[in-house]
Amino acid sequence: MSGKPSVPAPRTTSGPYGSCVLLKHGEIFLKGRNRHRFTERLHDNLRLALRGIGGSTWIKTAQNVTVLGGQVPQEALLERARRVIGFNSVEPAVRVPSELDAITLAALDALDGPRGRVTFAVRTKRRDKQFPLTSSQVDAHIGARILARFPGLRVDLARPEVTLAVEIDRKETYLSWQRLPGLSGLPVGSSGRALVLLSGGYDSPVAAHRAMRRGLACDFVHFNGAPYTNPSSVYKAYALARELNRYQPPGALHVIALGKAQKQLAVAGAGRLQVVAQRRLMVRTASALAARTGAQALVTGDSLGQVASQTLANLVAVDEAAALPVLRPLIGWEKQEIIDEARAIGTAEISNLPDEDCCSLLAPPRVSTRAGLPQLRSVEKRLDPEDMVEALLDSAQVLRPGVDEEAPTADDRCPTPA
Ligand code: ATP
Ligand code: MG
Repeated sequence: MSGKPSVPAPRTTSGPYGSCVLLKHGEIFLKGRNRHRFTERLHDNLRLALRGIGGSTWIKTAQNVTVLGGQVPQEALLERARRVIGFNSVEPAVRVPSELDAITLAALDALDGPRGRVTFAVRTKRRDKQFPLTSSQVDAHIGARILARFPGLRVDLARPEVTLAVEIDRKETYLSWQRLPGLSGLPVGSSGRALVLLSGGYDSPVAAHRAMRRGLACDFVHFNGAPYTNPSSVYKAYALARELNRYQPPGALHVIALGKAQKQLAVAGAGRLQVVAQRRLMVRTASALAARTGAQALVTGDSLGQVASQTLANLVAVDEAAALPVLRPLIGWEKQEIIDEARAIGTAEISNLPDEDCCSLLAPPRVSTRAGLPQLRSVEKRLDPEDMVEALLDSAQVLRPGVDEEAPTADDRCPTPA
């Protein structure tokens, strides 16, 4: 046998009750009196994520753990549960009646399979204090039975290769030996609604995901350069929103053709201020749209100093035009960190596709890094920003990208942009 011990793979059935998934609550467990509100939201989101899984499912709560099971393969439950924001860890598990013999048999079953020398530890938690043995007595009992059955195994309490967790409730006991990291954070929706300015790049989808992880349910708005650009950026925004909706109750995507307004700004003499003037128009329009979608804040993918339009002076000039707080979850992130995160959440491949972006349309060769408010205002005075916003809102298209698992319905399909 080679030196490297093999850790037992999770088994999908064991004992009279069968398999389940344990979901350990994240930050909500720090919440005081209104914790139940957060837990309800978490469970609503979990139920939504389980939609269309192809069989019946059930969930129940035991203190800071949610137990998930059903007539579907454990792998499918794990896959859906892992993208629900608010769980610190996701653990494949088996559940058995809370009787010592049944628990011991399930433990032996769980550790049946390692080859070579593997170190293990049993860690028992009793949520039911009526159980006749203490936690350490259960540890010792199960440990001794495992050692007797599998001579190749060795106990190591300090750094075990396999930790068998035994959680004893009043009626049922759960055994697990693998911890998959969850997305942690607060349940989506528990902090309110936001409107994400979604471009086709790497940054804004990651910013949206971070906002969701702080409990914000997100709708999206994308500005494209129509009629002067092709619709490629809209297709990207649609695919990105669809990917992001895997992590939340699906949000809508609003698409607004900015091309003509961009031209008006250029004709009004924006010059080196063009990009910042466009950004101001975007946040003005997004603020007005937010009043319709019920959003309390805007979210962007800005990172301080990343490009010329993201200097502090330019961000300040953009904020001045917004009627709502502009949240920038990535303000202190480096580009590589953002790209790594985009890969982890599944948006990088879409962001990497080529597109015709509205920001490059009419962009001056050198963007001003210190757009002054008086100059911006004098350009805007030649136009009527309020009328422009109204016209842009009137032309907005609402798409419902849904989520990836569901086959798109006629309403879901990305229509040809105007
Ligand atoms: P990204 O990778 O998200 O495109 P970026 O590094 O290219 O970001 P900018 O193009 O300066 O940065 O955009 C900064 C932020 O402004 C974006 O993260 C996004 O939130 C918003 N934004 C830019 N262009 C658009 C657009 N066409 N539609 C909606 N929002 C946009
Ligand atoms: Mg961009």
